[in-house]
Amino acid sequence: MNAPERPEHFDTGPLAFAAAENERLIAKLRLVIVALLTLIPLSRVMAIGFKDPVYSVTLVFNLCVLAAALGILLLQRMVTARVWHGRATAVLDVTLITALLALYTVAVGHEAGMLNRHTFPIYLIALAGAGLRLDRAAVLLAGATALVGWTFIIWLSLQQPSMAVFTPEQVRFGLVEQTNRFMLLVIGTLVALAIVRVGTRLVELAALDGLTGTLNRSAFEPLLRRELQRARRHGRHFAIGYLDIDELKLVNDRYGHARGDEAIRAVAQRLGSALRKSDVVARHAGDQFVVLMPEASAADAVKRLDAIRALLVAHPLASGGMELPLRITAGVACFPDDATEALTLLDIADSRLLAGKRAGRDRVVGP
Ligand code: GH3
Ligand code: MG
Repeated sequence: MNAPERPEHFDTGPLAFAAAENERLIAKLRLVIVALLTLIPLSRVMAIGFKDPVYSVTLVFNLCVLAAALGILLLQRMVTARVWHGRATAVLDVTLITALLALYTVAVGHEAGMLNRHTFPIYLIALAGAGLRLDRAAVLLAGATALVGWTFIIWLSLQQPSMAVFTPEQVRFGLVEQTNRFMLLVIGTLVALAIVRVGTRLVELAALDGLTGTLNRSAFEPLLRRELQRARRHGRHFAIGYLDIDELKLVNDRYGHARGDEAIRAVAQRLGSALRKSDVVARHAGDQFVVLMPEASAADAVKRLDAIRALLVAHPLASGGMELPLRITAGVACFPDDATEALTLLDIADSRLLAGKRAGRDRVVGP
């Protein structure tokens, strides 16, 4: 079954925001997990000193990773999240496990490397974490890094003097065991891909409007705030259009609710195809839509929305053997000329929309 087409800005909007939120959660989890994994070597070293190489290596390594995990957590608060951050940290998490296993192998021998039972399962935790990035590429990169890393550990183990001459039975057992471990890494990657799929679906359910498939109001607001920050930073302007279908209640009353739904869907679809790729459309409520037009002046926005209004009038909705008129009224507000706050901009566009309704509908009202 083909995945339904997602609206423009879904991946860079709600999905990216959810992935960034998960990335912040992962950064905290990483810190807690490493801190917990440090307790055992720490207590052991406190009891017997640096006599046991496994505990000594683990303690020093974990303290370094703990510092790095804290650094990542702090860095995250300072920089804007990007898709490659999730990919890089997913690969880093897996690589750190390989690095620890490599240290064990060199310090202790092959039984702490390719026969390791305690550290290997952490690969699976890191792979599940890669799934929380809601990005298939992050999972595939992490999965490939784990497979390459484990192959390296086997190779490194085979170089160690601890490798004695094995009986054929031991070699057979070793082959079965290693095949099993590779399979576990592949299974971990598949589970992580399933997490991406389920997570993305949940974001879709939360961010998309069920009737029209456009973004909904709660998905629109963070995009508006982001545009506001960008416009402030780069000294750009942008416009907001607030539009409402004219006399939809009449369509519902005369032709039934299903036709009213069709009219809402048709307006959404035509808005989507007539606007620019950079413009964001969302269903704000009932028969109201909001449009964000980056880098548009109020005059540009009025002109473009009016062209769409004229297009809707010229092409009524053919439904059930009749033609339903599609008319809209819209109000436009512009940053920074009308206001510099998101809510005020929406309020101004809304009041211009109401002025348009009072003036007789089927028009676009600007400043
Ligand atoms: P106006 O020109 O003043 O906008 O008149 P209107 O009839 O469109 O009234 P208004 O915008 O104030 O109210 C919206 C109406 O749209 C109310 C409701 O009957 C209808 N409506 C809201 N949501 C839906 C929906 O999901 N499906 C359908 N079929 N109708 C809806
Ligand atoms: Mg209406």
